[in-house]
Amino acid sequence: MTKSWTRRRHRKENVKGRAAEPSHMFKNCRVVGCKHPARAGTQDGLDTRFCRSHADHYARHGSPYKRSYSAAEINPYRRAAVEWLLANKSDRWVANSIQRVATLYTNAGPHEEAFRLRGLPPRERATKAWARLRKHDIDPLLVVSVWLAVEMMVRDDIQGVDTVEFKRVQAAKVVHRLASGTHKRWAQGVGGAKELHVYPASRGNVLRYIGKDVQGAAELLYANAKDLPTANIEKANASARPTPRRIKVRRRQRKG
Ligand SMILES: [Zn+2]
Repeated sequence: MTKSWTRRRHRKENVKGRAAEPSHMFKNCRVVGCKHPARAGTQDGLDTRFCRSHADHYARHGSPYKRSYSAAEINPYRRAAVEWLLANKSDRWVANSIQRVATLYTNAGPHEEAFRLRGLPPRERATKAWARLRKHDIDPLLVVSVWLAVEMMVRDDIQGVDTVEFKRVQAAKVVHRLASGTHKRWAQGVGGAKELHVYPASRGNVLRYIGKDVQGAAELLYANAKDLPTANIEKANASARPTPRRIKVRRRQRKG
């Protein structure tokens, strides 16, 4: 056995050995075209299939690359869905969905201020979101309308991401804004009035749970709704109010 043969064989085994190492050592971010390495497992709850920036996007939007719909994009759909629900309140699927949201409100337990929710598991924070909507007297019909709006929006979006997770996150973000956070204002303080705006995190697993609840309330209705509006949406103005004035919606407090 010559020295060079041994060296060659050694090198070959070395290569073989490296190839046999667990594949996670070499993984790249799964987003097509992204050259960054996927993240190693950490405790921050971000997905390890993606690089940091795509993992963060995924936590916030429910897709690693598709951005969330803006209010201007989704409001015409919300408005169309609300008008359709009001016109079909006696439909049994409509009544059933509204009842399901009412049940989420009833079963949510006592309301807690947003700043007390830090550190609670995402499932519990999602449940508290329902208590918050109940406290602010948000019409359950509005919650149902959000799921319908998201389904219609994804259906019409040629670049839509048609995953359950994306739809859940989109629905949760809108529902979350219907009654989000705790707002406090102190008239006096160093440098004038002080304000505290605490919005329970609009990212991560809490959104997935809220979205799952919304879907659970409205998916049967969506599956059985024969004449969901399409025409209204083409006529709708991007700046349209998402809800008619006769429906009670909590106004977001303005700064200053
Ligand atoms: Zn990436």
